Amino acid sequence: MSTPVGHVALVGAGPGDPGLLTVRGRELLGSAEAVVLDRLGTAQLIPFINPSARLVDAGKAPGRQALTQDQTNRTLVDLAREGLRVVRLKGGDPFVFGRGGEEAIALRDAGIPYEVVPGITSSIAAPAYAGIPVTHRAVATSFTVVTGHEDPTKDGDQTDWEVLARVPGTLVVLMGMGRLQGIADRLIAGGRPADQPAAAVQWGTTPRQRQVVATLATLPAAVAEAGLGNPAVVVIGDVAGLSGSVGWLGDRPLAGRRVVVTRARAQASGLSASLARLGAEVVELPVIRVAPIASSPDIDAMAARIGEYRMVVLTSVNGVEQLFARLRDHGRDARSISPDALAVAIGPATAEALDAHGVVPGLVPERFVAEGILEALGGRDLTGVTVLVARARGSRPELVDGLRALGADVHEVHLYETLAEAPPEQELERARDADYLTFTASSTVRRFVDLLGPGGAATRGRGRVVSIGPVTSATARELGMDVQVEAAEHTIPGLLDALLADAAGG
Ligand code: SAH
Repeated sequence: MSTPVGHVALVGAGPGDPGLLTVRGRELLGSAEAVVLDRLGTAQLIPFINPSARLVDAGKAPGRQALTQDQTNRTLVDLAREGLRVVRLKGGDPFVFGRGGEEAIALRDAGIPYEVVPGITSSIAAPAYAGIPVTHRAVATSFTVVTGHEDPTKDGDQTDWEVLARVPGTLVVLMGMGRLQGIADRLIAGGRPADQPAAAVQWGTTPRQRQVVATLATLPAAVAEAGLGNPAVVVIGDVAGLSGSVGWLGDRPLAGRRVVVTRARAQASGLSASLARLGAEVVELPVIRVAPIASSPDIDAMAARIGEYRMVVLTSVNGVEQLFARLRDHGRDARSISPDALAVAIGPATAEALDAHGVVPGLVPERFVAEGILEALGGRDLTGVTVLVARARGSRPELVDGLRALGADVHEVHLYETLAEAPPEQELERARDADYLTFTASSTVRRFVDLLGPGGAATRGRGRVVSIGPVTSATARELGMDVQVEAAEHTIPGLLDALLADAAGG
């Protein structure tokens, strides 16, 4: 029997901002069994890829140069013939100078079913993020997208720059940076006004975006002076002159700031997305990961007597998720918790997670730290009260000690642990030059210092440290780090507010 043949989706990754991936593209990435990445503009989508998918980097195959187009075509065919659901992720739109057509033909020839998911092309998006509309009423009624990759000084150049010079609309040149001078010369020779506005936008839509606006004649020198290189989109036409009035990117409060997120990958996305929306360049540096503890005698005992607890204390979203996962393993769920039990959540995110599982928290302290729970209990007599504290291995003892001091019969159960992760050296290097380092737990501070040296010394002292609260700050200070910013409300939104206030003041 032959293996069932797989399927390939040629998916446009968009121009760089992960928010510009299509809904269909995201669905496909989430369920892909193999993903073939491009050299440019696809790495930012790795967090959306099904974690068990096989990753093939067509841009840099192990120990080799980039795959040739033939090798890429063959890779797609081979993966599909293994019966896999394959996503071929391509920067921008697959069919705009993406060689997607060649891949489609190769798949058709091999009898492999495929689909095409268009993407937002950099030729429109990079100008848009620079405040340049490619068409504009009374200014430009057409736009032409052309490759500058052909050598404009050779006879072999298929691009007729003199004809393009006379097309009245906007001219968008991709892959043109290496030959910018030659292109400008030929356009001017062909009749484009030398003083027509022209712009180059490098790394458009990403936090590294940089742009220069000049005239057709002066753009090559302006680009050289600013040190702009590939990848960049060049826009020639009067619309380039609108960027001053239409531009919006630099208005965002964290524009130009590099911010490191040290949370575990699985938890980083909310914070990262908020930071990116505020204009920050986000470096995800997951220094820990959350490893569930799937079974233990304590967990068995907890599940067996879940209905007996009079108080159930959760100190993290992870704790909530793992509690219900373990209960489910034992054929139980929220209904097994006594309706008379007081459910305690350390803060609003934990409360929300509990609520989502059908348990309404009866107590959320004013201060979202373990001590806050003891304060909220206000020295209440808990003699003989059975209390479940379900949390991470290695948590601080204060909460359990405090509850015992009130007379409670505390059953502490460890549901997960945080393990050290080793982020790629490339990301560590980016972290060293960050403007802000964010820490949401003591465990991430410790691991960060392990990775980057005492006091986080290897950060070259530039990054301002933002901590979620006093416990995290204390750990940071013990390990020799200065903490410049501490959230007043010990939540992710609170941390964001504190960072924003600091950025606005600094
Ligand atoms: N299929 C892609 C284009 C691939 S050709 C698309 O639709 O966007 C590669 C060229 O695209 C680069 O040389 C550069 O000119 C342009 N490019 C891609 N991403 C870019 C970005 N984020 N900012 C500016 N130019 C980009």
